[in-house]
Amino acid sequence: MRLRLALIMLLNLNFLSTAKAEERFLSGTDDSISLQSERRLGDRIARDLYLDPDYLDDPVIADYLQSIWQPLLAAARKRSEISPELDAAFAWQLLQGRDRTVNAFALPGGYFGIHLGLIGIVATQDELASVLAHELSHVTQRHIARLITRQSEQAPWLVGAMILGALAASKNPAGANAVIVGGQAAAAQSQLNFSRDMEREADRTGFGVSVDAGFAPQGFVSMFEKLQLNNRNNDSGNFPYLRSHPLTAERIADMKSRMPEGAVPMAAGTLEHSMVSARARILANASADSLRNWYSEAEPGALAKQTNLQRAASLYGATLAATKLREFTKANAYATVLGSIVANDEPAARQWRYLRAELAVTAGNPEVALRTLGHASAPKARAELLAWIPLKVAMRQSGVAADAAQLWLLDHPTDASMWQQLAIARASQGRMVAAVRAEAEINISQLDYAAAISRLKAAQALSKTSAQDGDHIEASIVDVRLRQIEQLLREQAIER
Ligand SMILES: [Zn+2]
Repeated sequence: MRLRLALIMLLNLNFLSTAKAEERFLSGTDDSISLQSERRLGDRIARDLYLDPDYLDDPVIADYLQSIWQPLLAAARKRSEISPELDAAFAWQLLQGRDRTVNAFALPGGYFGIHLGLIGIVATQDELASVLAHELSHVTQRHIARLITRQSEQAPWLVGAMILGALAASKNPAGANAVIVGGQAAAAQSQLNFSRDMEREADRTGFGVSVDAGFAPQGFVSMFEKLQLNNRNNDSGNFPYLRSHPLTAERIADMKSRMPEGAVPMAAGTLEHSMVSARARILANASADSLRNWYSEAEPGALAKQTNLQRAASLYGATLAATKLREFTKANAYATVLGSIVANDEPAARQWRYLRAELAVTAGNPEVALRTLGHASAPKARAELLAWIPLKVAMRQSGVAADAAQLWLLDHPTDASMWQQLAIARASQGRMVAAVRAEAEINISQLDYAAAISRLKAAQALSKTSAQDGDHIEASIVDVRLRQIEQLLREQAIER
């Protein structure tokens, strides 16, 4: 996926070797870029990633990632790994990539990418936490800043142009391969790699953050063992993570030595994790053939040989696969069996309800879906709320739907998916000025200011010609937003 290529190209601009940069850092002649410049670089890259067809915001996976990510951030703040200054300057955003390969990476400015392929292979939330904590630590220890020297601060347009060039090249698979396979890529790759010292530091800091956040220390060790196994077998490039974070015997031994005495070697998985991980595997590879493969895993004979965790994954996967293949009778049958496994486990039961609501929506039964979600008033969790709002719109209750979206957006003003739902609800109410303004807010949340300005101008024109719904408050908001975003765009232009 393009996310990784962007980083390779970015770090290729680093004219100093990592070792030299570190030497200068240690000797006090630090030439790493400022927090603000790093953030602006990150914004530039993130803006393009949001437009990448592989970018996705799956609400179920997003909620699950946040349930790990937020405790990690809180622990890092408490340990002062994230200073108030760093906290305010960076984005701390996780971006999902629809890609089967196993990868997670930190970008400048506190943006992080995570491939569905990684979520699909981790056995526990603790393993996932270990990878995220490691990546977080590369940022909090300012490793990325050390890799990007001040030279790129003086020419951010060059960095932008390089990344855009890489993105454009990767739109053409043959072109992208040429870049990856060529000698230039090998050179870029060697620049990309964090130094051994940085890896050790990210492991140790990440381990502390992860354990403080309440995750099992075994997560690090079992994740490393998983990577090591694939390190030996890997020749197909399915584990790009191993290229950017080379695994050494030393790193494994270091983490093993930090395990508390008498700890069992593997942390226990949860039903919820098994289900979300199965979802990631399906979303990463939704071809009809691979969807049908899930059916054989959920045959009674196959289920009999599986553990309960494996059964939850098989049945969740088979239900979702059958839903996507529109084989609704089959999907319902799998969902019923799954129900008996998750009955006494609330986080798993929640995933099960959401899955059945998804099934009902796809089968064209919004009323059944609403009942299945089981929320008379607006749900508090984001995934359920994002499912509930369009169902309310379908039931001709657009006002209630819009109010719920608006309330959420007060606390989460850059939630593009929620702005999307608000735009739909407003359009369904006939409030077109508000609908188009909500569309502009999607662009703003994803840092695409030029697109936002054209939407805001369209909203302005609409408010002049058809103020049929007393939208004068919305019209004045549009005027204010237009001035703000035009200012932001001018600032971006100056940096070039
Ligand atoms: Zn690393």
